[in-house]
Amino acid sequence: MRQLLEWLNLFRKIQTTETNKISPVHVKNRGIPVPKIGFDCSGCEHCVESCPTQAISKTKDTLEIDYGKCLLCGICSSECPSNILENSGFHHVFSTDRDELKIEFSRDQLKSKSTSTLTDRIKEFQDLTKGSGFLFREVSCGGNNAVECELNASFNSVFDLEQEGIRCVASPKHADVLVFTGPISQGMQEPLGSAWEVMPDPKALVACGTEAISGGIFSQGKPPRTPDLYLVGDPPRPDSILQAFRYLMGRISFSFPDALDFWRKKNSFGSP
Ligand code: SF4
Ligand code: SF4
Repeated sequence: MRQLLEWLNLFRKIQTTETNKISPVHVKNRGIPVPKIGFDCSGCEHCVESCPTQAISKTKDTLEIDYGKCLLCGICSSECPSNILENSGFHHVFSTDRDELKIEFSRDQLKSKSTSTLTDRIKEFQDLTKGSGFLFREVSCGGNNAVECELNASFNSVFDLEQEGIRCVASPKHADVLVFTGPISQGMQEPLGSAWEVMPDPKALVACGTEAISGGIFSQGKPPRTPDLYLVGDPPRPDSILQAFRYLMGRISFSFPDALDFWRKKNSFGSP
């Protein structure tokens, strides 16, 4: 019987995701809130007041969203009386630069607070890992295990993180990358620092999930150094994790503001 099933496997369609076909938008995903193109905002500030992480700010003509603080909870879009903010399904929200995640929307355009540039440190890391992949150690720093669940899922046969040469290891001494999740609670600040110290150079630090980037609804502890990659989501989807790690290794080029702008215009987001 087992041999028969193994033979049948030869004729089954391959389910593993083809990385070059991954879309930054998932129709069944809530994604980040994005203002419609040409929005006419009444300035009621319901979105600003209802956001649990103060991710939104409003000026006379612009709406600024710091996606590094966004939990993708959807409250702001449900509170907007003019239906200006919509859950977009867009979920590839990652960058090597924290400020690149802060987006200012005017009626027809969007612009980021910063443009991501690759530091020498990241270039050195990419030289080491682009061809071979990397080993990472994960440290949970006061999170709720949601990000860990998605990190685990990213190794399943659909997303297959190992196809990129990425593996999780038990000891930070064997790791090239330290992935931390959660807001860095007081009790976890020192263990996180110790794990980082014993890792050999060159190494990279990844803030995985919104809580790791900004604390979310909690106050945030101090990471051992400025992270090399910020991956938004509460939690991030496995395909976001996969693409973000490929980006960190230099296997794809990606700019969050450009990708969001391109997608928003291509779909005439918000146009009737
Ligand atoms: S955290 Fe929630 S309310 Fe705040 S911007 Fe994100 S989706 Fe909107
Ligand atoms: S809730 Fe809607 S209408 Fe009110 S300030 Fe926010 S985007 Fe503008």
